[in-house]
Amino acid sequence: MNRIRQQDSELWDAIAGEIDRQRSGLEMIASENYASEAVMIACGSVMTNKYAEGYPGKRYYGGCEFVDIVEELARERAKRLFGCEHVNVQPHSGTQANTAIYLAALQPGDTVLALDLAHGGHTTHGMKLNHSGRTYHFVSYGVRPDTHRIDFDSVAALAREHKPKLIVAGASAYPREIPHGTFAQIAEDCGAKLFVDMAHYAGLVAAGEHDDPVPVADYVSLTTHKSLHGPRGGMILCKAGYAAEIDRAVFPGVQGGPLMHIIAGKAVCCGEALKSEFKQYARQVIDNAKTLADVLANDGVGLISGGTDTHLVLADVTSLGLTGRVAEQSLERCGITVNKNMIPFDRRRPLDPSGIRLGTFALTTRSMKEEQMHTIGGWISEVLKAPDDDALAKQIRGEVRELCKQFPVPGTSCNN
Ligand SMILES: *Cc1c(COP(=O)(O)O)cnc(C)c1O
Repeated sequence: MNRIRQQDSELWDAIAGEIDRQRSGLEMIASENYASEAVMIACGSVMTNKYAEGYPGKRYYGGCEFVDIVEELARERAKRLFGCEHVNVQPHSGTQANTAIYLAALQPGDTVLALDLAHGGHTTHGMKLNHSGRTYHFVSYGVRPDTHRIDFDSVAALAREHKPKLIVAGASAYPREIPHGTFAQIAEDCGAKLFVDMAHYAGLVAAGEHDDPVPVADYVSLTTHKSLHGPRGGMILCKAGYAAEIDRAVFPGVQGGPLMHIIAGKAVCCGEALKSEFKQYARQVIDNAKTLADVLANDGVGLISGGTDTHLVLADVTSLGLTGRVAEQSLERCGITVNKNMIPFDRRRPLDPSGIRLGTFALTTRSMKEEQMHTIGGWISEVLKAPDDDALAKQIRGEVRELCKQFPVPGTSCNN
């Protein structure tokens, strides 16, 4: 990295600014995490130089003997981690993984049943502007207005009515554990295949802290940068019978050459997640989120579904007379990063919705525990109750900095 400083100070200044931002602030965006130093070194390695279209042993280029080892290591570790029959580690992102699954499972115009975006779904679950929504016919299910849990009566009714070819389970902003078996039963009853998008909670599944979709789903996708604190990227897990069609859908279906340096990073992060410490990490992620939810609820912050089973807390800040945008901005100036988010049955619009989404992956990677969640939850509710109080914001910004000094961000030292 010093080479960047010498050669390109304009760029270095931005990287240095980002290092300082990550070190001195509390990262509570539920989809973010910190990669380890080993992951970063793998991603910055010579593996970036190699073209390797195809798969290990079946490449379109020469010189692939070492990248083959890297991809086999990533595949073998992912298979052990998730207990699946086949894995494709090449998707450049979660979105690419999902696009490839749709390409393998569907024809344009086919009907798909997925969670409504405003109820916690993802853009790749049929948003009109996304490739998924433009190519396939998506029908949405939602959560119940009273419990904010998935409305399985309505999922079953919609499945009977629309006869989807594919049912999508999984979410970006759903605080509760998803019972995949219930989806599998509904899919079986209507003759649909089941695709579980565990982008957020894959690490919790790997650690045995969340219901496991692998035994019941036809296809499973995940990201490696959220719960697994690996490099930015995606993966697809499936039964052996779908292996050939999934591999063809990833390459040449939706991608060209694989990012071998990122696949090296995926091998490192799966290796890390196979260690026993990772189970403790996942347990602590959930304990931290539950503690945070309790503190906020006790302070009068409305929580969607009343709490959490996972890493994620969705707060309705209109309970405090705020909007999501104001809440996000008032926390940001205290060094607490969250994102504004739609809540189920939101009466506001996506750019200024009613909620904020918080998560504990990143803080837990920094070794924070329940004690810190009490402190941080207290700061959040203080700020949300007085968003215009400049003196309070300044005081909490200082306290956040002090706390951060005690909990180093892994991986940032190799950037200096
Ligand atoms: C994050 C996420 C994705 C996609 O991730 P990208 O890597 O940003 O493309 C897909 N599905 C769900 C449910 C997600 O939360």
